[in-house]
Amino acid sequence: MKVKLILPSLTEARSAFWRPIKYSLFPPLGLATLAAYLDNTDDVEIQDQHVESLNLNDTPDLVLIQVYITNAKRAYAIARHYRDKGVYVALGGLHVTSLPDEAAQFADTIFLGPAEQTFPEFLKDFRAKSPKRRYVSTNGRTIQNQPPVRRDLIKREKYLVPNSLVISRGCPHHCDFCYKDAFFKGGASFYTQRVDEILAEISRLPGKHLYFLDDHLLGNPRLAAELFEGMRGMNRVFQGAATVKSILDGDLIEKAAKAGLRSLFVGFETFSPENLRQSNKSQNLMLDYGRAVRRLHDLGIMINGSFVFGLDNDDPDVFKRTVDWGVSNAITTSTYHVLTPYPGTRLFNSMEQSGRLLTKDWDLYDTRHVVYQTRGLTAKELEDGYWWAYKEFYRWGNIFKASFAHDSLQHQLKHLFYTGGWKKFEEFWNIVINTGGLKRMLPLLELLLCEVETKKSDRESVAIFVR
Ligand code: SF4
Repeated sequence: MKVKLILPSLTEARSAFWRPIKYSLFPPLGLATLAAYLDNTDDVEIQDQHVESLNLNDTPDLVLIQVYITNAKRAYAIARHYRDKGVYVALGGLHVTSLPDEAAQFADTIFLGPAEQTFPEFLKDFRAKSPKRRYVSTNGRTIQNQPPVRRDLIKREKYLVPNSLVISRGCPHHCDFCYKDAFFKGGASFYTQRVDEILAEISRLPGKHLYFLDDHLLGNPRLAAELFEGMRGMNRVFQGAATVKSILDGDLIEKAAKAGLRSLFVGFETFSPENLRQSNKSQNLMLDYGRAVRRLHDLGIMINGSFVFGLDNDDPDVFKRTVDWGVSNAITTSTYHVLTPYPGTRLFNSMEQSGRLLTKDWDLYDTRHVVYQTRGLTAKELEDGYWWAYKEFYRWGNIFKASFAHDSLQHQLKHLFYTGGWKKFEEFWNIVINTGGLKRMLPLLELLLCEVETKKSDRESVAIFVR
């Protein structure tokens, strides 16, 4: 059987938002995970439109397309193209789960929720020529005893971070703006692999660098502690994501650092307690963000801070406050988002019920556009402020200022090169990508993620205590 798995690009290559390096970071791991359920005799191909032009001239027996909200239009067009040729098309992913009736118009079969259990069931039905229109994941979810991810199908040389992995699904929290509860409806919403399986997966990966793409790498503290213990001596450096609370609790973050954690994505989101309560992000309440930052820096861990603008208690000063805090607290990179009510989330439902949604053009649900009636800020103030924040945070002056806020010269240089390299050398990255040199950049990234000598910081960060 000939099977094609496609990830359409999240934004078009001709769009003003297209940054080749941003879209060349991670391979389509979800598709490679599902491909593991296919037979060895199947002829399987994964195509990722972020890093290659799609070849749509073929006629496989089955096409599976992963649909996110901002690639939905492209995904549906590809689906239509193949169905017109008589090819069987299946769609799955976050957007399909949020809006199954919309997606079903373009597919022979749709998958709702995580597909690790339903995809093998579908394959059995498909081979027996009796596939169902809809497969819904409910109970019995697990990612233990899975067949190994089909990394042989990933074109490693096209990605800066080919060694990405996911060891869990979901997250233990329930923020109103997050896709998570909608996607995992009807079954477990946070579950993990076994430590021995994770360590086996890590030892199959070449090189030194790893990127855990889990929503919350420290979400299961017992598993994380065992994992980090098992990783000591493996000579790895890694990056991941975690909450402010998990950084402050116990000594898990020290264990992570000893195992090789060198940079962490942290969802600070907002400094306003009212905003946190409104978003059901109670895990961030009563926490000292500044102390979490100091703790990470004392361990030599760089920080990618995530911030949301446009929550109802934001005012026009929120952009400057957020950028100033990030710079004075030496945050390495900042990711800003315009609040976006994704379909299926509690935020979307409440905005729809109160008539606040301005559009259902899913292309605009990209966290750069305002798609709802704002409060406290006008839509123009919000979009202008969002762009201003990016520009201001990544100004050379501020990059230097944030870099030199670190204690050691080594940490300062790491910060300077990491932030500058990520945001200031677009043309350089374009040349690297176009000349097929991305794989040669990995040692450089590993160098930037080397361990730094740190002394306990007595530097006062601008503490914002969120009550
Ligand atoms: S902590 Fe992050 S992943 Fe978990 S529910 Fe909140 S936004 Fe989603």
